[in-house]
Amino acid sequence: MQTIKILWSEDKGFNEEELDRAASIIREGGLVAFPTETVYGLGGNGLLADASKKIYEAKGRPSDNPLILHISDMAMLSSIVTDIPESAKVLAENFWPGPLTMVFNKKDIVPGTTTGGLDTVAVRMPVHKGALEFIARAGVPIAAPSANTSGRPSPTRAEHVAEDLDGKIDMIIDGGYVGIGYESTIVDVTSNVPTILRTGFITKAMLEKVVGSVAIDPGISGGSVRPKAPGMKYKHYAPKADMIVYRGEISNVVRAINRDVEKMATTKNPDLIGILATEETRGMYPVGQVLSVGSRSEGTAGRDLYDVLRRFDEIGVKIIYSENFDEMEKSEAIMNRLLKAAGQRWIDV
Ligand code: AMP
Ligand code: MG
Repeated sequence: MQTIKILWSEDKGFNEEELDRAASIIREGGLVAFPTETVYGLGGNGLLADASKKIYEAKGRPSDNPLILHISDMAMLSSIVTDIPESAKVLAENFWPGPLTMVFNKKDIVPGTTTGGLDTVAVRMPVHKGALEFIARAGVPIAAPSANTSGRPSPTRAEHVAEDLDGKIDMIIDGGYVGIGYESTIVDVTSNVPTILRTGFITKAMLEKVVGSVAIDPGISGGSVRPKAPGMKYKHYAPKADMIVYRGEISNVVRAINRDVEKMATTKNPDLIGILATEETRGMYPVGQVLSVGSRSEGTAGRDLYDVLRRFDEIGVKIIYSENFDEMEKSEAIMNRLLKAAGQRWIDV
């Protein structure tokens, strides 16, 4: 299959004909990858069972891992869920459009293949202008997981999408580099107390400010409790190299990493040793391949996390020593992803 590539940009938007083409591919059951403010999504018609099947196939995604439906307005929400709880109305008013996904009871119109056989459906209204316009033009909710091969880091550029999916899908909408670099927060609003099923850009504190008490699913951190979001049980965002996170005060972390890198460099080519650092610390490592995931002081660390994990794969490093982000404002989401990438391997220093 030839994958068509089209462009969207902040100032020029879409070419109208190309947008129509993208929308009709979706309506007719094809697959279109598109930018959102979190990561690139692999979109298919959320109301067609066959489209969901194609998404699972293209990604190599286990079919018990349900898809998030992306909508462009509240009327679309009413068409796919049985009821909209009061807490969901408040959360939608405050965080939609934006990186928040809510889990509702689904109407029959949503096929079980889309929801991994569940009676609930996860829904999000993205704030990315191109995404909203594309969904509105398609006129149907668009089922979209991240546009990568299952188990690989989520894509933040159209080039990442092409690496994994070129020739397997109908179209890629190239909207350049996308912003947040990690996924939406998922909140189950079918329970009495809204419950976080996956941490993300919107923190617990931000949610509690508008709806009061919010719970966190105990299965979230990869222990022995089964997570409520089926996808949380899979190993995500994993680079090919072994990875270990150093936790503690940053000057201690830098010292400990340097000590261990030097030890490792006596038996390994230093070019095969990766160090995951930040703008503030990147100059402090004399040995190894240092990549920065953003700035601590500007709160952008995490933005480039997936990009950096991919680049470590490209360089071919065999081991990655990583700093931690425990002290950052949005640390719950970035630490959750970092520790998953590291297979929960960390040491306290
Ligand atoms: P992704 O689109 O790859 O970011 O993953 C979607 C996430 O949403 C996965 O962790 C799914 O398990 C979760 N999810 C989707 N639908 C539901 C649902 N109905 N109930 C709980 N979690 C869901
Ligand atoms: Mg994903």
